Amino acid sequence: MQRVMVLGATGSIGLSTLDVIGRHPDKYRAQVLAANRSVDQMEALCLEHEPAHAVMFSDDAAAELEIRLKGRVETLVHAGDQPMVDFAQSDEVDTVMAAIVGFAGLSAALAAAQAGKRLLLANKEALVSAGGLFMNAVREGGALLLPVDSEHNAMFQCLPSDERAIPQMARVEKILLTASGGPFRGRSRESLHYVTPDEACAHPNWSMGRKISVDSASLVNKGLELAEACWLFDREPSQIEVVVHPQSIIHSLIRYVDGSVLAQLGQPDMRTPIAYSLSWPDRVEAGVEALDLVRTGRLDFESPNLDAFPCLRLAYEAINIPGGMCAFSAANEIAVDAFLSQKIRFTDIDRTIEATLESISLSEPTTLLEVQALDRSARDAATAFTSDISIG
Ligand code: NAD
Ligand code: MG
Repeated sequence: MQRVMVLGATGSIGLSTLDVIGRHPDKYRAQVLAANRSVDQMEALCLEHEPAHAVMFSDDAAAELEIRLKGRVETLVHAGDQPMVDFAQSDEVDTVMAAIVGFAGLSAALAAAQAGKRLLLANKEALVSAGGLFMNAVREGGALLLPVDSEHNAMFQCLPSDERAIPQMARVEKILLTASGGPFRGRSRESLHYVTPDEACAHPNWSMGRKISVDSASLVNKGLELAEACWLFDREPSQIEVVVHPQSIIHSLIRYVDGSVLAQLGQPDMRTPIAYSLSWPDRVEAGVEALDLVRTGRLDFESPNLDAFPCLRLAYEAINIPGGMCAFSAANEIAVDAFLSQKIRFTDIDRTIEATLESISLSEPTTLLEVQALDRSARDAATAFTSDISIG
C-alpha cells in the first residue's frame, strides 16, 4: 500500500491523481491532501478520500475547513507552508505527488526529494528554477523521481530502464519533444495582440489549470519543458528538438544512433502518465479511453514558429545563461498573472520576460536561499515592467 501525499490536490493534476488513486483502493491511499484556499473542493475531497491530514496554505481556509469537517470525518486540518514541508518528509507518507502550480511548490517538492520519497513531479517550475539543487537533493536523498509531465513521462517510457540496456542512454541521438502548438498555432504575432484570457485558456486537446494553459498558448510551456528534460535526463539543450504535433497523440520520441525512433502514444489524458508514475515499474488501469488509431486518422508534424511565439526563442537563450531559466520562469509567472487579470496583453508576456532577463544580474543559484533571492529579484523586475504597461 502506497500512502500518497497530493500537493495541489484541488487542481487539475491533483484531481486526476485522486481519480486514479480512487480506482485502486488496494494499492494507494490518499494520506495527505494539500491545497491553496478552495475550501469547497477540499471539503468534498476529504469526505470522499478520508485522508489522515489536510493542509490549506491559507489560514482562513484551514479554519473554515476544520469547522466544516468536524464530526463528519477524522481528517486533521493544518495551515500554512510548513506542514506541507513536514508531511512531504514524514514517515506517514511514501509517495509525494508534487502538483502545486509555480514556484510556490518548490519547498515541499524539495523536501520530498531530500527525504528520499517516491516523488511524482508535475510541478515543472520547481525543477526549472532550482534544477541543480533539486537533482542533488534527489541523488543525496535517494529519492525515486518519476516525471508526470506527459512529454517527460513519454521520454521516460522510451528510454532504457532495464539495467542491461543502460548503455543505450549514451546511444540517444536526439530527444524529440512534442508540442501541440496550443490554441493559437498558425497565427501571426500581430494577430495575438488582442486575444483574451479565455481564448488563451481554450486548449484544443488538454484540459488544464489556467496558468499552464496560458503557458501552452505562448509556448513558454515548451521552454520550461526543454529545461525540464535537460535536468531529468542529463542532456544538453542541443540534444532536444521541439516538434509541433497538433493532435497530441504522440507525447514525445527518442531517436537512437541506429536510426530507431521510439515513441509513446496515448490519449491526451493526464491520468495515463499519472498512473504510470504511481505504478512504475508495473502498470495499472487509469480510466482512460483506448486509443483508436483509425478514428485518429492522421498525425501531423511541423516546426515551431519562433517569430510568432518569441517565448520559446527566449527560453533557448535563457537556458544557456546560469540562473536564466529561474528568472525566465519567475518573470513568466508575474506576466501570466497580469495577463489573466487583464492588466497586460498576451504579447506583453514575452516582452516582460525579455525585459526581466535584460535588467537583473544572473548567476547560478546553489542554495535554496539563492534560488529564492533570484526568483524574488526577477519577480520585482517583472512587476515593475508590467506596472508600466497600460492597456486602457
Ligand atoms: P491548477 O491551477 O489546476 O492547480 C494548482 C493547485 O496548486 C491547486 O490545488 C492549488 O490549490 C494549489 N496551490 C497553488 N498555490 C499553492 C500554495 N501556495 N500552497 C499550496 N497549494 C497551492 O494547476 P495544474 O494544471 O493542476 O498544474 C499543476 C502543476 O502541474 C503545474 O506546475 C503545471 O505546470 C504542471 N502540469 C500540469 C499539467 C496539466 O495537464 N494540468 C500537465 C503537465 C504539468
Ligand atoms: Mg507537458
